[in-house]
Amino acid sequence: MATTTTSTDAINDLTPPDKVARVRAKVLAWWHANRRDLPWRHTRDPYAILVSEVMLQQTQVDRVIPYYERWLAQLSNVEALAAAPTADVIRAWSGLGYNRRAVNLQRTAQAVVHEHGGVFPRDVETLRQLPGIGPYTAGAIACFAFGQDTAFADTNIRRVLHRLFAGVDVPRPSLTGRQLAALAERVLPRGQGWDWNQALIEFGALQCTARKPLCLVCPLREECAAWPEIQAALAALPKGTRLKREAPFKESNRYFRGRIVETLRQHEAEPGPAGMTLDEIGPRVRENFTPADVPWLYEVIEGLARDGLARVAEPDATYDAGEDVPVESLRVRLP
Ligand code: SF4
Repeated sequence: MATTTTSTDAINDLTPPDKVARVRAKVLAWWHANRRDLPWRHTRDPYAILVSEVMLQQTQVDRVIPYYERWLAQLSNVEALAAAPTADVIRAWSGLGYNRRAVNLQRTAQAVVHEHGGVFPRDVETLRQLPGIGPYTAGAIACFAFGQDTAFADTNIRRVLHRLFAGVDVPRPSLTGRQLAALAERVLPRGQGWDWNQALIEFGALQCTARKPLCLVCPLREECAAWPEIQAALAALPKGTRLKREAPFKESNRYFRGRIVETLRQHEAEPGPAGMTLDEIGPRVRENFTPADVPWLYEVIEGLARDGLARVAEPDATYDAGEDVPVESLRVRLP
């Protein structure tokens, strides 16, 4: 109880009504002058909104546009996606990376079709019960498809609100996730949720970016709690701070998962038996692959199978349960 009160007090202190009013007016004015014409901003179809939101996770807008249009041409509605063979879904996603997102998207579509008669729920709580839908995506669908005044926060929204109302957000934000959610709720202008949320996302993508915010030409500078310290704080961050914590992409299992799926996809178009053995896959996904790498490869493939992105099959099913199947006899293929 005490924590809730303190949180509420903290948000109250950060959001005097006159400042909130000025920020709203300036953000919305900036939005109307600078908004990009993006295809998902022309639709209120919850399925199309969902597709765009999933594609935009960790992928640049410019890259997403052709994939979004191609996807909707091939899988134009929730029923088509739910009924499509998963291999076709992964193929339609080909090139976007993070294939797991395509499989999750299909699971969401199947739940909408089988549990909701093909009609997307309109409220955030029910949307959140769909597989693969987190608080951000549920809020985005409720707002961007159904025009509801929902407050939600992706990384752009969190960053912009933190800087405007709470100050510098690096190397660590001073607000908790819960406080940021309360802040987003507090400042949302009722009746303008669609424009407001789009505006914050756009402002974070074009103006108040993570590493190089354009403070000198920012119309919100006078309202901003992070200005001018933000520039010095960003400059003091060690170069490549985030990258150091992650394995280089080309050494990560995520990279090899993508390569394995791509190899299986290519193999499907070749004549010959269905599926590939681990011995066949290995050299095609990793340079200098040796038999010592087979256990590693098997582990990565098991992960793909768990996520519904690959199928592992024994050549015959006569082995006893519990008996080890030699991995050389396994064949792997797309689902
Ligand atoms: S002044 Fe800089 S940090 Fe503040 S909102 Fe504008 S771009 Fe972002």
